[in-house]
Amino acid sequence: MGRDDVLPVLYDLVVTIGSEISVKPLLTRTLQRLLYHTSFSAGFICLDVSPCEHEGGVVEVHLDAAVGDFDLIGEIGKPIHLPCALICRSAGREDEQAALLSALRCTQTQYKAYLRLPIDQCGVIVLLAAEIPETDLPLTTMLQPVLSHLAKAIVLCRSNDASTSVLVKQRDMLEQVFESSYSSVMITDDQGNIIEVNPAFTRITGYTLEEVRGRNPHCMASGRHDKQFYREMWSDITEAGHWEGEIWNRRKDGEVFPSWLSINQIRDKSGKLLHYVGTSSDITKRKEAEAQIHQLAFYDHLTQLPNRRLLVERLQQAFSVGTRSGQHGAVLFLDLDNFKTLNDTKGHDTGDQLLVEVAKRLDACVREGDTVARLGGDEFVVILESLSTTSDEAAAQADMVAEKIRDELSRPYQLSNHIHYSTPSIGVVLFRGNLQSLDDVLKYADTAMYQAKTAGRNTIRFYDPVMQAAIEARAELEEDLRHALERDQLRLYYQVQMDSRRRPFGAEVLLRWIHPERGLIPPAKFIPLAEETGLIVPIGLWVLQTACAQLRLWQSKELTRDLTLAVNVSAKQFRRPDFVKQVQRTLVESGARPALLKLELTESIVLENVEDTISKMRELKLLGVSFSMDDFGTGYSSLQYLKRLPLDQIKIDQSFVRDIASDPNDAAIVQTIIAMSEVMGLLVIAEGVETEEQREFLDLRGCHAFQGYLFGKPVPLEEFEVQLKGQ
Ligand code: C2E
Ligand code: MG
Ligand code: MG
Repeated sequence: MGRDDVLPVLYDLVVTIGSEISVKPLLTRTLQRLLYHTSFSAGFICLDVSPCEHEGGVVEVHLDAAVGDFDLIGEIGKPIHLPCALICRSAGREDEQAALLSALRCTQTQYKAYLRLPIDQCGVIVLLAAEIPETDLPLTTMLQPVLSHLAKAIVLCRSNDASTSVLVKQRDMLEQVFESSYSSVMITDDQGNIIEVNPAFTRITGYTLEEVRGRNPHCMASGRHDKQFYREMWSDITEAGHWEGEIWNRRKDGEVFPSWLSINQIRDKSGKLLHYVGTSSDITKRKEAEAQIHQLAFYDHLTQLPNRRLLVERLQQAFSVGTRSGQHGAVLFLDLDNFKTLNDTKGHDTGDQLLVEVAKRLDACVREGDTVARLGGDEFVVILESLSTTSDEAAAQADMVAEKIRDELSRPYQLSNHIHYSTPSIGVVLFRGNLQSLDDVLKYADTAMYQAKTAGRNTIRFYDPVMQAAIEARAELEEDLRHALERDQLRLYYQVQMDSRRRPFGAEVLLRWIHPERGLIPPAKFIPLAEETGLIVPIGLWVLQTACAQLRLWQSKELTRDLTLAVNVSAKQFRRPDFVKQVQRTLVESGARPALLKLELTESIVLENVEDTISKMRELKLLGVSFSMDDFGTGYSSLQYLKRLPLDQIKIDQSFVRDIASDPNDAAIVQTIIAMSEVMGLLVIAEGVETEEQREFLDLRGCHAFQGYLFGKPVPLEEFEVQLKGQ
């Protein structure tokens, strides 16, 4: 090979070297090129060859590349042992060469010559041939520029390899994380359309990448969150670049499940939005576990009712609610009578059956928000909340629930193969806010329950003896009231109503109960009870019928022909759908002139349901009946509704009349009521007028109708008629 032939070879080699970026192909290709252009037939390359110390010794080197038909190829990448001379010295005499080559384990006979080309500081190339090739120039000298170029390329490729391997490792690692992550990962483009999901995503949602690619994640929305939820989520993502929270999504099979989702924005260095990444984990199991733990910790496993721990928590809550609202609450402590006998004779399974049934019945007796708990054994506790602010009423309410519970629990039980009868003993204690301690309330209720047991079981006892007595008296009164009508114990009293010239123009009828033992009971004592029990309906009808009958009787007498009667109507009565019919029938049956009948309503009736009130009043007015607004000024006195009501008269409440002469405030109120009535074209009457001073004051201000002790107290009919004659 001459000098001119060498240049294209060098060029080819340089191009080969320059085109590689990784060490291994660089070495192999360079070696291939060298063998192609020379008459050598095989060769190998070792890098990082350390200088030999012993001429005849053996050196351990690393075989980095080998080309040709010889066994070293199998050794690439491994350390091998070679004669020092083959690696470290340039070619020597022919016999010497032969000796060296024979030292190469696998090629003793095939190769007769070799050429050693050092690659600067990097290593060495050894070319092997069967014959010594002929060249004009020593090849080593010719190849020198290429070898130093190769050395540089090796350095570059090595660092390239190093950084590539770091990147590859990193990429592999990230891919593994992505693939093996237990959390679902979803990547979208900057528009929020899915471009990548991992296997966990598919496992959790049921969707493969193909099924969701290009779609918006909203395709998995469960419908459990409103627009506001998503609006806030996106405002967090756009403002902070991040959102994290619990979200309900829908799997491919339609199942809705809870997951903990975190969404992040991915931006490039310039801040341009590239992706959104959503990582989430299915928290169904966690939620179930939480619920299970909660169930175990706070509920009785037999009846599924709250246990003592939850009871205490609920009671504490009830205390603080009561402190704020001023309303009473009650604790009912229940124990089943003779439960032990059932357990002993029929076995625990039967006992358990009874407890489960009792739990069900108890739950059905209370309102939502009330608590029924099982303390253990056959002891149950019920917490009633939001009872009245007054203790009397609250006690009555608690008593009503306790009665209901007693009735329910006393019904027969069907237990596996027999009918069982059971009764409870119930202790009741009222509480309001934090006035008593929690332990005390439970202790008192327990004590009251024992008192109930001592009193003969199947009994309700209040802890407070005063309250217990009141409840008993009330129960008695209620029982008596049920018979008051049939036993003819109710009477109407008549209180005269006067005009400004002291001429009677009518009366208000006021109910009295003449009790055989208690004597005369005023309406304030029994009307609330009648309203609660519904007895007001038949009683109210009786009042109406009696008043109308009286009007009819009066119609035939000169003196009484034009007298009007005002009848008080209670809310329960007025609200009945057949109230208008009742009045109409009563008028027809009695033959009373409707124009003489005046119905007194209170503000609370009206406010309860303004529309219903107006329509009923209109119907009755068509019959000729008139209306008065009783106790005016004590309610909300909203002029708004007053304007809409077809009223005839306003009755100034006696509480304003009482101090009219001394309290400028009351005087002002009364004056305003009168002026307002005038504007609205309504009549005014003042009730509770007791003194001449009050009468004069009212008269001067324009109120010309009066009712009060000054003119006459409510009296029985006979007395009233005598009074009339005396006028
Ligand atoms: P009301 O309709 O405001 O009746 C006026 C009350 O004031 C009557 O009390 C009457 O006796 C009393 N009163 C009258 N003049 C004076 C006075 O000069 N000074 C004082 N201090 N009081 C006077 P009563 O009869 O005890 O009735 C109380 C309330 O019971 C009535 O208030 C009414 O709301 C209700 N009521 C009475 N009868 C019936 C009825 O038949 N049905 C219904 N639903 N409620 C009735
Ligand atoms: Mg009245
Ligand atoms: Mg009144």
